[in-house]
Amino acid sequence: MKNYASNFIKKVEEYGFKAQIISFKHMEEIKLGIENMKQTYEDINVNIGKYLNKFDYKVSDDFLKPKSIIVIAVPQPVARVYFTLGLKRYAVIMPPMYLLNSSSEFEKKHKKICEITEIVEKILSYENFKAIKVNIPCKPLAVKSGLGTYGKNNICYINGESSFYWLGVYVSDMPWENDSWGEYTIMDTCKNCDLCLKNCPTGAIAEDRFIVHANKCITLQNEDSGDFKKSLRPEWHNCLIGCMRCQIICPANKKCITSIKNITEFNDWETRKILAKTPLEELPETTYKKLESISFIEDYKLLPRNLKVLIMK
Ligand code: SF4
Ligand code: SF4
Repeated sequence: MKNYASNFIKKVEEYGFKAQIISFKHMEEIKLGIENMKQTYEDINVNIGKYLNKFDYKVSDDFLKPKSIIVIAVPQPVARVYFTLGLKRYAVIMPPMYLLNSSSEFEKKHKKICEITEIVEKILSYENFKAIKVNIPCKPLAVKSGLGTYGKNNICYINGESSFYWLGVYVSDMPWENDSWGEYTIMDTCKNCDLCLKNCPTGAIAEDRFIVHANKCITLQNEDSGDFKKSLRPEWHNCLIGCMRCQIICPANKKCITSIKNITEFNDWETRKILAKTPLEELPETTYKKLESISFIEDYKLLPRNLKVLIMK
């Protein structure tokens, strides 16, 4: 039989991506794993249940007969964005995956995600296979498929590489070859290291359990709308969205940490308009395009608050 899956992986690597392909039968286990986590850790259910409940494990077989799950890892830089107020220019950063940040509802309009999907579809089409992008938990899938390994900070590190990757999952009618499905793994580097734990300003990474205390994590707070908790000190904020403190310190990311990419710059007028919460539709097209380049259309309402706390600190 032809090695469809390994040929796919080789082709996708020509684009700089990494991939792993496992049997579709694991879909149910992925779902059960999330349900178990919600039951075991009540705080996880309370704090991130609304995200976990959005996962959709059902795949209609009208379009294809599902045989495999493809997990794709696309390298991403740390993004730097400039804002200006008067004579002062502020450089702020965003963690790697946020340039491709999108809800499942919005991702069909997200240019860069569509480009990745087109690459996946194009490679599969050489052998007349198809794929559908699915919204299921990427990190546990990447780890259990053998593509990555967890760090103590609960981030997925692509094996031999870094955590600076965006993950996407597709279901396909392409057959799998070597089902690498296994147990959760933690990086060897973590055995004698606690740098992320010490560098986490909020104490979200704790000694008492592997799962990060979601209620303390800055990421969950600045990805959500509303006022920040009073316990979250302004000086702890370090990114326009998300938080880099546990990744920036990690020895496993050492070789990538210098790859910061300047994405765009907002002038004084634009920065003031953003801080004044000017509705998106009232902004000129040039400003809209800049917001699009940093993937802040869908989450635009978060931007004035997140920016303000960074430039005021
Ligand atoms: S900082 Fe150390 S303990 Fe934390 S994820 Fe990286 S290697 Fe593991
Ligand atoms: S993302 Fe930030 S707040 Fe969350 S665990 Fe890492 S360092 Fe702590």
